[in-house]
Amino acid sequence: MPITDANKKQIAQQRRLFYKICFDCGGKNPILASRCRKCHGKNMRLKNRTLGAKK
Ligand SMILES: [Zn+2]
Repeated sequence: MPITDANKKQIAQQRRLFYKICFDCGGKNPILASRCRKCHGKNMRLKNRTLGAKK
């Protein structure tokens, strides 16, 4: 079912794309996290935000 509402679609994409990945353990963390919640490391990167990328 396609999402036709542009606002809802944007929110969904943000929920799906806006988070951080830990370099050390690969854990997924909130966008506002400063340390990994799994290994407490500081090596984190933003999720690659390429729109249209499907998996
Ligand atoms: Zn980690």
